[in-house]
Amino acid sequence: MKQLLFSVTLFSLLFSSCTSHKKEEKVETKKTTINKEQIQQDSLAIRKIFDTALTDADCYEWLRELTSIGGRLSGSEEAAKAVKWSENLMKELELDSVWLQPVMVPHWVRGAKEKAYYTINGEKINVPITALGGSVATPKNGVLAEVIEVKSLEEAEKLGEQLAGKIVFYNRPMDPTLIKTGHAYGGCVNQRYSGARIAGKFGAVGVIVRSMSLKNDDYPHTGSMSYGDLPEDKRIPTAAISTKAADLLSENIQKKSSLTFFFEQHCENLPEVLSYNVIGELKGSEFPDEIMTIGGHLDSWDLGDGAHDDGTGVVQSLEVLQLFQKNNIKPRHTLRCVFFMNEENGLRGAKKYAEEAKAKNEKHVFALESDAGGHTPRGFSFDGNLASYEMMKEWRNLLEPYGIHEFTKEGSGADISPLKSETIVLSGYRPDSQRYFDYHHAETDTFDKVNKRELELGAAAMTSLVYLVDKYLPKQENVKP
Ligand SMILES: [Zn+2]
Repeated sequence: MKQLLFSVTLFSLLFSSCTSHKKEEKVETKKTTINKEQIQQDSLAIRKIFDTALTDADCYEWLRELTSIGGRLSGSEEAAKAVKWSENLMKELELDSVWLQPVMVPHWVRGAKEKAYYTINGEKINVPITALGGSVATPKNGVLAEVIEVKSLEEAEKLGEQLAGKIVFYNRPMDPTLIKTGHAYGGCVNQRYSGARIAGKFGAVGVIVRSMSLKNDDYPHTGSMSYGDLPEDKRIPTAAISTKAADLLSENIQKKSSLTFFFEQHCENLPEVLSYNVIGELKGSEFPDEIMTIGGHLDSWDLGDGAHDDGTGVVQSLEVLQLFQKNNIKPRHTLRCVFFMNEENGLRGAKKYAEEAKAKNEKHVFALESDAGGHTPRGFSFDGNLASYEMMKEWRNLLEPYGIHEFTKEGSGADISPLKSETIVLSGYRPDSQRYFDYHHAETDTFDKVNKRELELGAAAMTSLVYLVDKYLPKQENVKP
């Protein structure tokens, strides 16, 4: 029943409906046959994609090599090495073309290891701390001031002038009741991104933020922040402290009416650096001018080795092209794999890619991003042109045997979102999210946290979606660049 419904819906979306009853009957017979065959074909093709991914994929070894370079923060030597490594790898795969797209990126450096502590009843308590990307340094000998705890930007705004001369401690935890942890992250991350902008406005001398993680441990998680249009003399140092330290500090603040906190960091914003998006392409056999982009970001934070964020996303994206090659599937549209530079602290690579697509009048019909970690695949989210969404939802039947069932209308990814228009379909790969924020932007985001099978299943899931879109996406009229 499900199968039949599936074929009818698929057909009605793929082919125009008929007016006469007689004609309709004829087509009805034809369509069931065609579609049963098509479903069988697709289901076999997907089975082959998964079999190849689980027995003959290279993405796990690629990830081992990439992460051995270390953290790849934009502008760093490691990021430059990663660009070279990616270009060489794409060239080895015999794609139709491989090139580098130049882009200027910010260059922020952490400097010497940060320090933080406070004293309570004569006992010194050291605090695991990490500067936030983009932050200024503390004075050379650190900053020492009374700490004041708030739970939101709004609360800080309300306190206003009372923040002057203090270190503001943002301590709203991620909501553990939200099943998709990305939603919990979304509900908290404004403290990290804008906390210093608000507190600096009122003359605070520093900001510390509870790490964006659901795990109670001693690892601080970095991430980007912004001072917005705050004048330079109001820009104050900001850092993240571990969740465990945040809980203890909060407890101690409640015990003592006044508590002074010390931290020291030596980070610096250096002049911008020339870097690159790395791009490889398989030319389409029928619609070579219509482009389907598949990508992740090559840069990462400096603390770990950028395994889940987003080493897994780039190697999976490249594996999609290789799985087409290994299964002798000739794409009808041009498949373009993009390793974006500077997602973490500027999104320059993404903006450059979209700008150049527009300038060159390229037709972009589909884009898929993997930037949510390398855990077990659950599904995809869709954004942009959703005229074919009902059809795409039907593909769930083909992917359910592989545990893939989430097809939602809910954003896509930071790197492909600048391509958004009424004509392009944007999709975000959605793996299981329960462990992602345990590692995200922390020193624990390392290669050993990635499971080979989960990574390969993800690459196969992405390839299956690209295969179906390539096969069934209706011909786009007036595709806007
Ligand atoms: Zn990422």
